[in-house]
Amino acid sequence: MVALGMQRYRDAVYGDAMNETALRDEICELGRSIFERGLTHGSTGNISARCDGGWLLTPTGSNLGRLDPARLAKLDWQGKPISGDQPSKEAFLHLAMYQERERNQAVVHLHATHSVAVSVLEEIDPADVLPPLTAYYVMRIGSLPLVPYFAPGDMQLAQAVRGFAGKHHALLLANHGPVVAGTGLAAAADAIEELEATARLYLLLQGRRVRALTPEQVADIRRRYPAG
Ligand code: ZN
Repeated sequence: MVALGMQRYRDAVYGDAMNETALRDEICELGRSIFERGLTHGSTGNISARCDGGWLLTPTGSNLGRLDPARLAKLDWQGKPISGDQPSKEAFLHLAMYQERERNQAVVHLHATHSVAVSVLEEIDPADVLPPLTAYYVMRIGSLPLVPYFAPGDMQLAQAVRGFAGKHHALLLANHGPVVAGTGLAAAADAIEELEATARLYLLLQGRRVRALTPEQVADIRRRYPAG
């Protein structure tokens, strides 16, 4: 009993701190991988994850390739900074996703070139931007609404995101870029990379006749792999 009590005490005192340390490292490692593969550029893009007592977010003006685990911003559930560097100006995008999506643990937002390119095309369907070109796109994204354009920092963008986030874990911000939530950092990263790869395929196929998956094939994938 004494030993178990001690173990619980250790978990309570050190367990969460250890988890947060590991999470901070994981965010920085993911940022470096995203930046090195050109999935976002300059100081664009931001990554966040729920942690004990709030959530972690990459700082404003930070380059995802050169993040410092100790300097990540920690915020509360009102979006107020608790510690670390000043949070990204796009914190409200992440907060809106978390508030509408209790199960999701991480959010990634990038200015990924092909996704942004698709977001500025006139002929796309704002209700569901990309066709179901592959099974993995259907499994990891499913449907992708276009959030209307608002200037950076405009709180109407947060409201618009909130309006879609309850039903969609992946959104494409018009003339801006994708925002994707996941059950963890790896799931959010996999999904946003699938979206960017599919946007690239879509652009490669412009002007060609395409056989996208049929509604029956899409329904079959959804039955086999219910959305996580
Ligand atoms: Zn952005």
